[in-house]
Amino acid sequence: MALQLRPNCEYCDKDLPPEAPDARICSYECTFCAVCVDDRLHDVCPNCGGGFVPRPIRPVQEWRPGLSTAKRPPSTTRIRLSYTLEEIAAHSARIRGIPPERR
Ligand SMILES: [Zn+2]
Ligand SMILES: [Zn+2]
Repeated sequence: MALQLRPNCEYCDKDLPPEAPDARICSYECTFCAVCVDDRLHDVCPNCGGGFVPRPIRPVQEWRPGLSTAKRPPSTTRIRLSYTLEEIAAHSARIRGIPPERR
């Protein structure tokens, strides 16, 4: 199954189209922009506590049959935070000192 390619940052609601170089994802595909990951979340996913990596960019062009943003379109379901900003700040403060590979 392919990555969902969610359309927005859960925290600030910035648009993150498939070609966005600043999209970040956790292992569950929770999706945020780079500014929120660096400055607000401190590399702690508010949902699962994991770290983030840059989201791979899906090619627009169909280089191989069936594989392109046209044939495998991105998700259109915008996702918003499931926790308050205060809860997220506390969650991040508790976990951010532990490297992702040891969480
Ligand atoms: Zn953001
Ligand atoms: Zn997550």
